[in-house]
Amino acid sequence: MGIPRALHYFRYFPFWKRLLEKLNVEIVLTTPTNKKIVEEGVRHGFGELCIPIKIYYGHVFQLIREHPDLDYIFVPRYVSEVKDTYFCPKFLSLPDIIKILPDCPKLLNFEVNVKEFPLSTSVIELGKQLGKSQTTSLEAYAAAKSYFEEYHKFLRKGASVIHALRLVVRDRPFTLPKRTKKSDIRFLLLGHSYNVFDTYINLDFQKKLEDQGVEVITLENLPEKLFKIPVIVNNKLRNYWRHEEEIMQAIRYFLIEGRDEIDGVIFLISFACGPDSIISELIMRDMKVVGLPFLDIIMDEHSGEAGLLTRIESFTEMIKRKKRKLELSKGIKAR
Ligand code: SF4
Repeated sequence: MGIPRALHYFRYFPFWKRLLEKLNVEIVLTTPTNKKIVEEGVRHGFGELCIPIKIYYGHVFQLIREHPDLDYIFVPRYVSEVKDTYFCPKFLSLPDIIKILPDCPKLLNFEVNVKEFPLSTSVIELGKQLGKSQTTSLEAYAAAKSYFEEYHKFLRKGASVIHALRLVVRDRPFTLPKRTKKSDIRFLLLGHSYNVFDTYINLDFQKKLEDQGVEVITLENLPEKLFKIPVIVNNKLRNYWRHEEEIMQAIRYFLIEGRDEIDGVIFLISFACGPDSIISELIMRDMKVVGLPFLDIIMDEHSGEAGLLTRIESFTEMIKRKKRKLELSKGIKAR
């Protein structure tokens, strides 16, 4: 079974991997995103599509071209994972837009829609397509769930998703890498996982920050409890996009109790992403209230290395100077 290393991969791959392997499926992953994948995806994706969907196309084309012996491609339909929130409509229609591609192998149906049925039902349906009994599917589900919990515990200990996914792909135990560099400042890096962790399309953004002496944390490193209570804007507005809800929940924490735990916030947004464009405006207003420096970066297939580096350098330099000035004035007062 082919799996595109794009979109939901960055969020759910550990769960799928354990589940499918327990169902006796051999997984073929695409390579990490590269120039050819992006070019092919852009050629086939129509103009106003966001770049993550175009990249997804590119990965599917790689599977079709390089693995003609595949029985299936795994293109799940994520509708709702938590009651009261939905995934972006592009996730809802993903299997429909992929199955009409020329020479596309059969898609394996896997719909996640907890508003309508529990995840275990989706897994039983998946198992049926592979000729597995309900008992076998439920055992696979329990194993996948427990592995996914272990993976998230590891992330909450501070591991980066990029590192953790590498371990998952290689079937290695979860061990933290040794920290070699000392950081002067700490940023929260926000965005959809496919924007934050696809190092080709974001031009290895996290590494660029680390090279500037920045410690980076992402949503996945934050305590689970922050994501239990919904965000209600101005006591009346409820955001119903799943990923955006998580971003807002994280921001709420740094607005209230966690203000001093970070020095700045960067939000990576895909060009033409409707949900993100709305919440980035809300976040910017909140950041002004608490005086946290905020930078939003809009990415597409034309993003350039030099321009990005200049923005990162000037943002981090501005914050480092501000911090030095503050420490200096504290020192003078103490004397
Ligand atoms: S949330 Fe935004 S970036 Fe993600 S698939 Fe939807 S439109 Fe594209």
